[in-house]
Order: sequence, then structure tokens, then C-alpha cells
Amino acid sequence: MASVVAPPIAAFAFDNTYARELEGLFVPWQATKAPQPALVKLNHDLAEELGLAAQSLDATAAALLFSGNQLPPGAATIAQAYAGHQFGGFSPQLGDGRALLLGEVIDKHGRRRDIAFKGSGRTPFSRGGDGKAALGPVLREYLIGEAMHALGIPTTRALAAVTTGEVVRRERNLPGAVLTRVAASHIRIGTFQFVTARGDEALLRRLADYVIKRHYPELDGQDYLGLLRAVSERQAALIARWMLAGFIHGVMNTDNMTLSGETIDYGPCAFMDRYDPATVFSSIDQRGRYAYVNQPLIAGWNLTRLAEALLPLLGEDQERAVAQSLEVLGTFQDRYQHYWLQGMRQKLGLARVAADDLALATDFLATMQGQGVDYTQAFRRLADAAADTGPAADAGLRQLYADDAALKAWLPRWRSRLHSEPGDAAQRALAMRAVNPVYIPRNHKVEEALDAAVERGDYAPFEKLLAVLQRPFDEQPSLAAYAEPAPAHESAGYQTFCGT
Ligand code: AMP
Ligand code: MG
Repeated sequence: MASVVAPPIAAFAFDNTYARELEGLFVPWQATKAPQPALVKLNHDLAEELGLAAQSLDATAAALLFSGNQLPPGAATIAQAYAGHQFGGFSPQLGDGRALLLGEVIDKHGRRRDIAFKGSGRTPFSRGGDGKAALGPVLREYLIGEAMHALGIPTTRALAAVTTGEVVRRERNLPGAVLTRVAASHIRIGTFQFVTARGDEALLRRLADYVIKRHYPELDGQDYLGLLRAVSERQAALIARWMLAGFIHGVMNTDNMTLSGETIDYGPCAFMDRYDPATVFSSIDQRGRYAYVNQPLIAGWNLTRLAEALLPLLGEDQERAVAQSLEVLGTFQDRYQHYWLQGMRQKLGLARVAADDLALATDFLATMQGQGVDYTQAFRRLADAAADTGPAADAGLRQLYADDAALKAWLPRWRSRLHSEPGDAAQRALAMRAVNPVYIPRNHKVEEALDAAVERGDYAPFEKLLAVLQRPFDEQPSLAAYAEPAPAHESAGYQTFCGT
């Protein structure tokens, strides 16, 4: 009789290609032991997707595993090397100063995913840092990453959060924590910059070949210009999704932009409430480099840094290589706008393409500006306005405006455009509600959840908020408070801080 061997508890089927194939881009390194690890949260759905038998993992075993105290078989922890432009200035060596890659697994859908710790102690890349993470930022990354995922935006995800039992010193003492993060990979524009800055062309070629194989297998091997084009395309689509959702990353340094096209590194990020293109929340972004409206431009700037890093691979004739790269980069803003407009059409309930869609979309946004209108609520209430044809159809939307004169002029244009659309009002409203969320991570709700956890060890608000954010499109009357922005006097001057 064939015997069925049950996998050991918490077994990931690791297959660590990065460590095997990219010698020179990492340092083998061990996690610092946590004195008293305790499980805060395990993402069961994601664990299951990764083939981890999480049901059989009790809280104690999970705490040991996700603190790095007891590594799962097959994990080979490494700190990855990378460089990066931070707020425009180049650092030739950043690297995983408080993170470690455990390895890669193939998930249930056949996708290769990285499993990594953040907050697992000092590494050779730590510079002056302590290698630790505080509980608040770990929970913030958990919440926002899962919210982005539920909104359908490509993102790294949180697999687990544990507290370490250690005190982490920031402006004050805070509970230490480790986040386990899952990503399509952790390869960043800064990874390429690291290699090119060292002049190691052989390694650069290996890295580019590796990225093509892992993330763009549809490309011919060695089509490095094609790689630049493909990464630009994914980033154009990604940034469009951010803009459509009102998401502000806050620290779009080149080390925080992935080759896979996933959002990574939730530090000072936040969602815009009142529509204002100049919105910036991050306390360290004093000049507004990474303001909402700048994000497409910054993405283009970052991709130019990627193009520079790839230049040595683009042929002997470097002048020609530069010209070809510039041609690719020159299409980025158009590609971005293509994706954005596509998304805007859906948000506005438009299935057909018409010549003045762009004007219709930007004019709707213009009605909001300076009127204190909540961006997320405005689109959701526009769906209500699409559902109803009676005299009160627009009441909910109009209520959001201090002065609704511009809106009143815009609505008939939109309605007349809807006349040429297929489907009835009910179908249209349904489609609009499937893309215009009711619930986003409201800044005051996120702060409330983090505060309860950090100050009182009360995880109920975090759990509640997480559950709400996992179903962003399903309106529930009992959750009305989660759909509201903070009162204006509370949200004025709201600031986020970097996740260190
Ligand atoms: P981030 O701002 O999180 O994208 O990190 C930028 C760089 O600083 C990366 O190289 C991080 O590894 C490093 N870093 C951030 N926080 C810490 C910390 N507490 N200890 C050591 N390195 C850190
Ligand atoms: Mg980073």
C-alpha cells in the first residue's frame, strides 16, 4: 500500500531561485531572535493560497515561525542588496536593513511568490538603523495592503503579524513587531541601480534575464528594451489604479518601485479624502515631491532611472540605446492616461468610448475641487445618481458640495452621455458600484485601530476595520461610520510618518 506522507506542519515548498541564481545580490543572514513572540494576526486565506496548512498551526507555533525564531524547513534567509534614489538623491547602497527573504514558493495558482520578514533585526545593510519595526507601522502595512488587494490593485500582501516582546525606540518606546510579507518578488528599480552603479555588467545581465524569466516570460530572452517597455506598461497600469482609488504612496523612491508592477512598502501612505490634487500626507515629504498629482510624473522619472541602469545591456551603440529608451519612456504618460481614462469610464458608468470622455471625467473632478468634496463618496453617490431618474436622484451627491453650481452644470452633460450607453439604469448603477468603493482605509479609522492595538493591546478595532476593508464594494448600513471621512477639523493637517 502506498503510504501517504503528511507534510510537516507549516511546511512551505520552498524553491529559492533568487538565492541560487543571483549571487552577488544578497548576503545570507539570520533573523534576530525575538524574546517573547506572540501572534497578532495570521492571514488564513493567503496562507492557504501559499499551500501552508495554517489550520494546523497553533498560535504558539505561528508566533515562533513568523518571528523568525524557528525557521520553516527549506527557508534560507538572505538580506537583499539594492540601491535607490530617495527623494531624488542617489544612495548606491541601501538593501534590506531590517528585512529578510525566507524564500520563494509556488502558490496554488502556479505563481512564484516571495516570503519575507520585515522587522527581523539588523543586517549588514542596516547602516544606523536598529533593524526593527514597530507594531503600528506593521499593522498599517497589513491593513492597507489587504485593502489594496480587495480593491483589485496589484500589491504585496501581509501573511502574518507578530509582536516580538521587545521595546523599539522611536520618538518614544513602542512594541516591536515583525510583518511577514508576500510579494511577486522584491526586485526593485533600485536592485538594477545597485548592479549598474558597481559596473558589474555580467551580474546586470543575469539580473535582467532573471526578471524576464520570472515576471515577463512572454518576452524573448535578452530583449532588454522590451523589458523596459513591459515594466513601464505595468507601472502605467498600476499608477492609474492608485490615482483612480485616491491612493497616495508617499515615498515613491526607486527602491520602492517593483519590477513586478506590485505596490510595495506601505510607509507614510494614505488615501485622499477631500479631492485635492496637491494632497500630501507624509511628514517627511515637505516639498510635496510625492503629492497625489505628481505620482504619474514620478513613476516616469523612476522608470528613467531604470532605463539608465539597463543602458549597458542595450547594445554597443549607446547613443542609439539612449534614443530607443527615450522613445519607450516618452510613451509612459500616454499609457498612464490610457489606463486612467479606461478606469474613469468605468467609474462614470460609461461602457462605450467617446471623444469627450476625458473632458467629462476631468470636469467632474473639477467640480469637486475647493468644495470639500470627498473623492470616494462622490463617485459612490454618482452611482446612486445613475440608479435613480427621479427628481431626488442627485440629492446625495449634491450634499457633499459646499457649492454645487459646477456640479449642476456637469450632471446634464453626463446624463446626456448616458443616453448613448447600452443597458438600463439599474445595470449601470450595479456596474458603477462594483468599481467605486464604499470603504477605503479612512485615515482616522486606521489611526483608531493602530492606537487601540498599540496603546491598549486591543485588536478589536483592527479586526473590524480589516473585515470592512476586505469587502470594499458591499455597502452595509451598520458600517456607515466606515464610509465617512473624518470631520474637516480633524483631518486638516493629517500627517503620516515613515514606517521605520
Ligand atoms: P524604507 O523607507 O522603508 O523604504 O527603507 C529605506 C531603507 O532604509 C531600506 O534600505 C531599509 O532597509 C532601511 N531601513 C528602514 N528602516 C530601518 C531600520 N529600522 N533599521 C535598519 N534599516 C532600516
Ligand atoms: Mg523601501
